[in-house]
Amino acid sequence: MIAFGVYSADGVDRVGVRIGDQLFDPTPVSQLLEAASLLPLLEAGRDAWLDVVGQMHDADLPPIEGGILLRLPCPIGDYVDFYSSRHHAENVGRIFRPDSEPLTPNWRHMPIGYHGRSGTIVVDGTPITRPAGQIAKGNFGPSRRLDFELEMGFLTGTGPARISVEEAEDYIFGLVLVNDWSARDIQAWEYQPLGPFLGKSFATSIGAWVVPLSELADRRIPAPSQDPAPLDYLSPPGRSLDLALAVSINDEIVTRSNTSNLYWTMSQQLAHATSNGAHIRAGDLFASGTISGPEPQSFGSLLELTSNTRFLEDGDTVTLATGVAEFGVCSGTVQPCL
Ligand code: MN
Repeated sequence: MIAFGVYSADGVDRVGVRIGDQLFDPTPVSQLLEAASLLPLLEAGRDAWLDVVGQMHDADLPPIEGGILLRLPCPIGDYVDFYSSRHHAENVGRIFRPDSEPLTPNWRHMPIGYHGRSGTIVVDGTPITRPAGQIAKGNFGPSRRLDFELEMGFLTGTGPARISVEEAEDYIFGLVLVNDWSARDIQAWEYQPLGPFLGKSFATSIGAWVVPLSELADRRIPAPSQDPAPLDYLSPPGRSLDLALAVSINDEIVTRSNTSNLYWTMSQQLAHATSNGAHIRAGDLFASGTISGPEPQSFGSLLELTSNTRFLEDGDTVTLATGVAEFGVCSGTVQPCL
């Protein structure tokens, strides 16, 4: 398995390739990797991706040693966050809208989501400053309910409007860990009727390493059964992924989940996101939404794990990881509110 990322050494940013825990210089393989980001590779499209990844496995790459600083893999274009775990949507519905049905009427008919703020996406290791905001009616101050969200995202190449569900994976370069930091007090007061805004836009962390989708062939599993049957533009559903996930706070594991807990597939998410005629650009990020399983020990946020009672303290370090070393981790430490 390989992953691509960007590292900084001696003041210069370069693309690196990761195999296991070791970093290598991939530039002998392709000129597309000589930039300071993955953007030229993402723009080159699927045939180039398969060619470069295939060559990487056969190449004798020079290892990179010494101190490195990880960067964002590319300038992040548009950022969408879905809401595709049914268990998460039901848990949040019960907490935020206790007098209503847990699932909103639209949920089983389409992968719902919102557009987030790409400018505040940061790489693994970046400190996270506790946000301030309206934490209740008439009360502005530091959030007291800062939370993580365990998610997996994918980066795209350039694509047309209305990507069909069958061809959607042709436009998905690779996957990356995502922590959608969330201020639950700001979120609960602001979110109706237009959805998440300042409760989430202060920071989103992503892992430094992008694992090409083509590397995950042996992790593919059938999509979950979907009832009611999705509309034609969301059928067939494509395939899901079996990737174990875990979150630790200060080195203590607080939850274990799996990407198989997602109801909507990446193909359905991308087909839906472009179904109105919107096209995608290289470097766009689509995140899954919080990945909660059916068991309480598999919930993907503190909101769910503690029934909305305990949240992050200043100094806490939250680390997301998978069972695959090449993804690296997605970590961030909470800093006091400015
Ligand atoms: Mn989220």
